[in-house]
Amino acid sequence: MTVEQIPFGAAAFIGRRCNPYGAETGGPRRIMGGLHGPDSAKLVSADTPGLPEAVQQGEWVCKNMAQVTVRMTCGCGHVGAEMELCSWHDEPYWHGEMVAGTIRRVKDIRTVHGHYEEISRRQAGACPRCMYPGAYAEWYKALFAWQQELAMLRDTGQWYTERAQYVRSKLEDVCSEFDVGNADGTIHRCPMRLVPVS
Ligand SMILES: [Zn+2]
Ligand SMILES: [Zn+2]
Ligand SMILES: [Zn+2]
Repeated sequence: MTVEQIPFGAAAFIGRRCNPYGAETGGPRRIMGGLHGPDSAKLVSADTPGLPEAVQQGEWVCKNMAQVTVRMTCGCGHVGAEMELCSWHDEPYWHGEMVAGTIRRVKDIRTVHGHYEEISRRQAGACPRCMYPGAYAEWYKALFAWQQELAMLRDTGQWYTERAQYVRSKLEDVCSEFDVGNADGTIHRCPMRLVPVS
């Protein structure tokens, strides 16, 4: 589908602002399918490939009016929250031009892409619910927690304790679950694309 074929969403007529990642409604909380909970406005960049730091911090807003209403959709049919985004628009800009032997500042209009095009092109990675389906979301958090505890035990000279042994066995259990999921395709990278909402 080309950009020209995108139907204008209701947002274009209501006059709402472009709202990439939900920046206008409290940050990118719904990214990652809510995997990281309501406090996920600050995410580590490894979890949100393609997201600029400012967006992760929830500080990012767009000054343009929204033109299209879209939602992220993966190949398995997972659908993200609706986003109202800006699209191609005219933007005035200044540039230097030689006029009668001197450089003058000249105002011009150029057509620039909007967040619809930007996010479409960047395609912020894989569908989180396909990467961490079902119980894997919990196991992923558990894995992280066990790793943190093991690092703490190591750093405090408790590497050979019973507790550390227990944590290592837990880590092995979780890792083998991920091995199974990766092997049988339960865990997979599903590219997400922006689909217009009509
Ligand atoms: Zn999938
Ligand atoms: Zn925008
Ligand atoms: Zn999916």
